[in-house]
Amino acid sequence: MPEKITQQIIELNFCKNPLCADFGSLNAANYSILSERNNPQIACASCHNISPIIWPDELQSELSSQREYLQAGLTACTNKACDNLGYNVQLYPEKYYSFGFSGDKQRYRCKSCQKTVVDRFSVANPNLKTHVTILALLLTGFSLKEISIKLQMQAKTLNDHIKAMAAICRHKSSVFDHHWQNQSQQYLLGSDYHYLQPNSENGVLWICTLDLNSHYVVHQSVNISEQANVSGNRIIAREYLASINTPLSEPASDKLADIIMARLNDHSARSHRNNPLHNQTQLNYPVKTSLVTPIYCATAHYHQINQWFQDMDKLTLSLAFEPMLAEAAITSFNEMRQKQSLDLLYQIDDPAWIEGRMGSKPQPLIFAHNKVSWSLSEQKHIRANTEQRAICQIIESNLTQKQVHQLPKHTPISNYMERFHVIFKSSVNEPRRKRRPEGLLPLLDIYKAWNNLCHQNNPGETPAVNAGISEKPLSLDQLLQ
Ligand SMILES: [Zn+2]
Ligand SMILES: [Zn+2]
Repeated sequence: MPEKITQQIIELNFCKNPLCADFGSLNAANYSILSERNNPQIACASCHNISPIIWPDELQSELSSQREYLQAGLTACTNKACDNLGYNVQLYPEKYYSFGFSGDKQRYRCKSCQKTVVDRFSVANPNLKTHVTILALLLTGFSLKEISIKLQMQAKTLNDHIKAMAAICRHKSSVFDHHWQNQSQQYLLGSDYHYLQPNSENGVLWICTLDLNSHYVVHQSVNISEQANVSGNRIIAREYLASINTPLSEPASDKLADIIMARLNDHSARSHRNNPLHNQTQLNYPVKTSLVTPIYCATAHYHQINQWFQDMDKLTLSLAFEPMLAEAAITSFNEMRQKQSLDLLYQIDDPAWIEGRMGSKPQPLIFAHNKVSWSLSEQKHIRANTEQRAICQIIESNLTQKQVHQLPKHTPISNYMERFHVIFKSSVNEPRRKRRPEGLLPLLDIYKAWNNLCHQNNPGETPAVNAGISEKPLSLDQLLQ
């Protein structure tokens, strides 16, 4: 029997084909559910696009699990049934009473459910010196093994220190993130994704969203769930094997038109366009965690951003050329789209494109068998190569073609991710970590906080300084204290 199409299902699974007459339609009569396979799919009656269904309760579990991870170790109510769950004492003091001390540490009581919570950050970090040394060594490229030898420390002790440092960094990030989220109503964001361990074939993806003006990292998500034995549609089965094994296409040249052509071929070879893991025939499945289907991870990523920006009245979101990101963003920001407040685009820049300099008038870029339209502009240089920018406006609300060709560069996102792979190369590529990707999560938390608050691209300028939420760069001492 076909599943019943509820309004909740339609809200996540409406037609996401911008060329369809019923694009975005929330009318159940436009859709039908196909149940021939184990995984029911949904079809649009107008454009006949068929997609695996995103189930509302499964998306909710993914969102809760991502949120639980972000809030782990923060000073906040931990009662899952309480409205104050995850609300920081530092940012929402009105939700708590001071409630004496536990040792030297300040204790609070939740006004809503009376649960008490001890603020571990109310005393100075007793291991500050060690933590600063460890971070300085990590940032200079030392491996964990080298650090434990250098500091004459057991591997387990080092690991505990790194987990404690990650909790401090998540705490610092939560405070700055809160200020960042409340400083504007108009946002220009960019997203990209990468394999977390490019040589590990373990299906673990890392999705990042940055503010393209300040380069502040707004949010990052990884498609692993911390429990080893969860099931459901959002989880990739342990025995999963892709049926197709098409190698990625090589572009005919490094011109953007050829790069786009190659990616179009790759996307159409996928079992579904929103699944970048489609040709993963060799999957080193993580031992202690579960892999989440990429589209669920990406949709929860954007749902979280959407919830943070309650007062957002305009959003421009620029994506790397990846349909999984586009479909997730269309789902999560559909209300913004309906209010004509969303501009969504794919953007590809040559690395040497100069930000802030006008390019030539955008020209249409047409690909056979593909109706989606791209446009191309160029910066011509005397005695140097011509630089190109290609843009595909997926959803147009406020920006003209000319304006999108003048947006900031998209490359800071891939630079952020590549720098992680360079700095933490030995940990990323360690063979025994292939099936234990969760060991990298604390490093990601530390790296994000360091990037936003300490790392200076130009003297005195961190992303937080550029975003106007920090007066000056934090030293490693200030980050970890
Ligand atoms: Zn359609
Ligand atoms: Zn509570």
